[in-house]
Parts: sequence; structure tokens; C-alpha cells
Amino acid sequence: MAEGGYELVIIGGGPAGLTAGIYASRSRLKCVLLEANPLVGGQAALTDIVENYPGFDEPINGFELTEKMRKQAERFGLEVRNEPVNRVDKVGEDFIVYTGKGEYPTESIIVATGSEPRHLGAPGEKELRGGGVTYCATCDGPLYKEMEVAVVGGGDSAVGEALYLTRFAGKVYIIHRRDRFRADGILSEQAIADDKIEIIWDTVVTSIHGEGEVEHLHLKNVKTMEESTLDVAGVFIYVGVKPNTEFLGGLLKLDDRGFILTDDRLEASVRGVFAAGDCRSKVLKQIATAVGEGATAAFVANEYIQERRHKRAETESLGYDQK
Ligand code: NAP
Repeated sequence: MAEGGYELVIIGGGPAGLTAGIYASRSRLKCVLLEANPLVGGQAALTDIVENYPGFDEPINGFELTEKMRKQAERFGLEVRNEPVNRVDKVGEDFIVYTGKGEYPTESIIVATGSEPRHLGAPGEKELRGGGVTYCATCDGPLYKEMEVAVVGGGDSAVGEALYLTRFAGKVYIIHRRDRFRADGILSEQAIADDKIEIIWDTVVTSIHGEGEVEHLHLKNVKTMEESTLDVAGVFIYVGVKPNTEFLGGLLKLDDRGFILTDDRLEASVRGVFAAGDCRSKVLKQIATAVGEGATAAFVANEYIQERRHKRAETESLGYDQK
């Protein structure tokens, strides 16, 4: 293909996609990166403080880090377009990637679409979204100066973002359904030691209430079954993530939660398609693992493309396809 089409389309501009872009551009592949949001960086760009990405002895802001990745990729000539992908079709051995704005014929694809926050499913959550129910502390935290807010969840996101919120809010409650955090040890210790944070263990949010704006939460202790009410101006929900893989239709094999299954070369179930980062079925979802996968996926995609180029050259010199 290549002439008129692409050798590689990278879908998603978080750390995995941008790293794939750096490697693919340095391999001089004919490549484009398609990102749905005007700003690249994915969920990592919405993380205020990144402390566990190697190479930075002081914490770095997620947006700053992913901006550096974008600039680095563009320095090597990566074309980044702000277009959401809504469908991918397989055509023979090639693919067509469709966005609202156009079509991208390509020989290979790296899916690096990451994941998005899961909703809690509590009554009132949907109705009060944007009125105090939020999934982004970086975006909305500064609105809650000196107010009392709640964070729901016990993973890295919930605990990390609760710590971030202490910069603005007068008090931050963390409501967690168990009696210990899933978040890493250092984050957990920091939250437990923070005077502005009160942890409500073994408790779930049963409903969210307010007239246009969040006013209070109904809570239930899952051990004692005791019910209570908590007055807060905002509730930040961090109860896990779901992969952005719906646009793939039935193209690739996914696990039971919708994450893309790959082998250890990051090849998905269809030849020519690779997956990297948080949209992939795997144990550890971190910026550090996403960039490694982006690099690997681009390396293996390059091998695949070189093999195809070689085969095409052979066919042209022989005058027929030697199967
Ligand atoms: P997560 O690790 O899956 O944690 C989700 C949390 O929400 C868990 O504590 C879980 O409780 C709780 N939860 C799930 N469903 C719930 C429900 N219906 N009601 C109440 N609580 C519920 O998700 P995450 O924190 O968003 O992180 C996603 C991935 O990104 C993880 O792999 C994480 O390590 C990574 N991450 C990394 C960083 C970083 O390295 N800086 C920052 C953020 C996220 P249980 O503990 O009881 O299951």
C-alpha cells in the first residue's frame, strides 16, 4: 500500500501512542497519530503529580510530561491529528481507519486508546454530573476552595487525587469500600497522615443528592450496615477504568472487561494490529509500562512493515507473487 495510504496509523495520543509515534517516526515509517481530544496526553495528562515515572527526581505534572512526549515525537516528524476514530475496517491485508473527518487507509495499526473513568452507578450520579459529580480532580479541583469534598475509591487515582485536592479543599473525605487501600504504599501512607484527609473505611455511596449541585451523600457501612449522610459540595469518583475499545466493533479479541488481548509481541488477534498501554489486557497500568509497550508495538509494527515491503519488492522483481 503506502502510496496514498499510511504504513502505520496510531490511534490514541497518551504516553503509549506518543512513544509509539517517537519510535515509528525515527524508523521513518509513513505514520499518523489520531487523537480524539484537542490536547494529547490521555489520562496521564490529567494526573497532577507523577512520582513514579523514572528519570524525574522531583515529581512532575502529568500534562507537562505528556507535552514533552508530544514535542519529542513531533521533533522526529510525527504527524498528530485531532480526529476521533469511530470505526476500523479490515480490507484484505490492509485496514481503513474512519474518523468523523476522513478515512485513513493503512497497512498496520497500533491501538493505544487507553481507558476512561468508570461510573459508580449510584442514583443522582448522572443527574448531578457537572453539578459537583466529577471524574477529574485536575479539571475541577480548584473550584472547591476551602469546601468539603469526597473522593470515592481506594486505588492510585482516588488516593493520588485526594492528596491533590487538599491544595484547594478545606477537607477531603475518602470513601472506600474496604478497610485498606489498593493504592501503592507511599500514596496510602501520605493520605493516612494528611490532616486534611479523613478516610471513611468499609463504606459505599448509596446515592448522591442536591438541587442542581451536590449537597450531600448517603453512605452505608458495609460491615455494620449503618447508614449515614455526609454533607459535601463535590464528589470525585475514581472507581476504576474501562477501556476505549468500543469503536473496534468485533475486529479484535477482547478480554471479558473489554481490554485488548495481545501476545507478548503486542500483536492483537488480527495480523497487522498491535495494542499498547491501558487499553490492553495486562497486570500493571502505569505511564512507565505504557511507554515500554508503545516502543515495543512500534518496533514490531516496523518489522511487520519491512517484511511486507520486502515481499512487495520480491513480487515486483519476479513479476508474480511467490506464496
Ligand atoms: P483501580 O486501581 O482499579 O482502583 C479502583 C478503586 O475503586 C478500588 O479501590 C476499588 O475498590 C474501588 N471500586 C471499584 N468499584 C467500586 C464501586 N462500585 N464502589 C466503590 N468502590 C469501587 O483504578 P484506578 O485507581 O483508577 O487506577 C487505574 C489504573 O491506573 C491502575 O492500574 C493504577 O495503578 C493506574 N494508575 C497509576 C497512577 C500512577 O502510577 N501515578 C495513577 C493513577 C492510576 P477495591 O480496592 O475494593 O477493589
